Amino acid sequence: IQEKFDAIVIGAGMAGNAAAYTMASRGLKVLQLERGEYPGSKNVQGGILYADMVEKIIPEFRNEAPLERRLIEQRFWFMSDNAHTGMHYRNDDFNEEKGNRYTIIRSQFDRWFAKQGQAKGVLLLCETTAVELIQDPYGKVIGVRTDRSGGPIHADVVVLAEGVNGLLGTRSELRPRPQPSQVALAVKEMHFLPAEVIEQRFNIKGDEGVVIEAAGTISKGMAGMGFVYTNKESVSVGLGCLVSDFAENQTSPAHLLELFKKHPSVAPLIAGSEVKEYAAHLIPEGGYKAIPKLFGNGYVICGDAAQLNNAVHREGSNLAMTSGRIAGEAIFQIKSRRDPFTADNLALYKQMLDESFVIKDLKKYKDMPDLLHTQASNLFLTYPQLVTKAMENFVRVDGTPKIEKEKHTFSSFRKARGALGLLGDAVRFARAWR
Ligand code: FAD
Repeated sequence: IQEKFDAIVIGAGMAGNAAAYTMASRGLKVLQLERGEYPGSKNVQGGILYADMVEKIIPEFRNEAPLERRLIEQRFWFMSDNAHTGMHYRNDDFNEEKGNRYTIIRSQFDRWFAKQGQAKGVLLLCETTAVELIQDPYGKVIGVRTDRSGGPIHADVVVLAEGVNGLLGTRSELRPRPQPSQVALAVKEMHFLPAEVIEQRFNIKGDEGVVIEAAGTISKGMAGMGFVYTNKESVSVGLGCLVSDFAENQTSPAHLLELFKKHPSVAPLIAGSEVKEYAAHLIPEGGYKAIPKLFGNGYVICGDAAQLNNAVHREGSNLAMTSGRIAGEAIFQIKSRRDPFTADNLALYKQMLDESFVIKDLKKYKDMPDLLHTQASNLFLTYPQLVTKAMENFVRVDGTPKIEKEKHTFSSFRKARGALGLLGDAVRFARAWR
C-alpha cells in the first residue's frame, strides 16, 4: 500500500473498531489491521455487552447487531466447597425495549462491528499483523510495517488498540509489558444446550438472560472469580485469577474450571451440554496505577492495551470502546484544526478520557487491585466460607437454641480473623472502595 492514511488502527477488537468507525464516519481515511482471520476470531469475553457505550457510537445497533440475551438478572455467589450464598437482583424493567446489558459472542459481534466501520470507508486488512512501528528521527510514530510483503505504511497517527498481549507497543517501549500481578488469566467454555432448557434452568423466557458471578473456594484463596452467562443456545462458563497467583500456587486455570463446573451449584445448570469451544485470554487488572502513558508523538493507546479495565465491576469492553471512540473524536478534532499529531496536541485524548467514566471509575478503585492481591486469601477464601457457614447455621433447624447459633456464628468470625482483623479488613475495604 503506497498511499498515506489519516490514521492506522492496530486491532479490530472493541477499542479498534470503535476508533476506526468514529474516524471513518467523520470522513477520515482509515486503515485498520487485524492479525486474526477475521475480527473477533481471537477475542474473548464472558461476555456482557454494555449497551449505552455502543449506542454512543452506533445508536441503532440493537436492530442489527448479533446480540444473544437481554440481561434481566444478576446473581452474586459466595461459594464454599458444597454450598453458595447468593444475592440475586432481578428487575423486569430491564426487559425494556432498549436493554441495558446483553450477552454477546465476540467472534460474531466484532465481525459485525468492523463491518459497520467498513461501510463508513475503513480499509480493513485481516490476517495482517503490524510487526513494527515506524518512527522518524525525532521519535514520532509515522506508520507501521506489517508481515505482508510491501514497504512501510504511513499515517498521521497510529491508534494502538492491540489488546493486553499485543507486542507492538511493548516492543517499541511505548507501554510496559504488564506484570504477572497486573493481569488475570481467564478460561472460558461454551456449553451448548437447547434454548428451552436454558430458559427452564435459569427461570427466564424469550430473549431474557441471567449472569452469575461467583467468588469463593473455587479460586483456592487466589484473587479471582468464576462466571456463568446465558447465551441463546449456550451457557458460557469461565474463571480467571491473577497470573502471579497461578504461578505462586502452582495450579492452572483449566484445573480450577473443572472444579467450578463440578460444583453442586453449577453442575445442574450445564448438565447434558455439549462443549464446543474453549478459550483462554488475559485480562488487564492492574487498574489506575497500571495505566501507561496514553499518548505520545504520533500515537494513542486504547482499551486493554492501556489497562483500561475495571476488575471490580467486571467491565472491559465498554472501557475499550469508549476509549476508542474518544481517541477517534480527539484525532478528528486535531485533524479538523489542521494541527500536527504531536504529543502536545494528542494530549486532548487524555483530557477527554479523564472527563469520562473510564478514568473516573478506575481512579475511584485505584487501591483495589493491591487490596485484592494482598488480601486474596481472606477475601476469596475465608469470608466466603464464613458467610456460607453462617447461612447454614441460620437455615438448618436442629434443635440448637438460636442464641447459641448466633454465638457460634460470631465466634467463628472472631476465631478466623480476630476482632482487630475484622475491623482492619472492614477499614481496608472501605478505604479501597470509596
Ligand atoms: P481486544 O479485544 O483484545 O482486541 C485486540 C485486537 O488486536 C485483537 O483482535 C488482536 O487480534 C489484534 N491485534 C493485536 N496485535 C496486533 C497486531 N500487531 N497487528 C494486528 N492486529 C493485532 N469485558 C466486558 O465488558 N464484559 C465481560 O463480560 C467480559 N468478560 C470477559 C471474560 C473473559 C474470559 C475475558 C478474557 C475478558 C472479558 N472482558 C469482558 C474484557 C474484554 O474482553 C476486553 O476488555 C476487551 O476485549 C478489550 O478490547 P480491546 O479492543 O482493547 O482488545
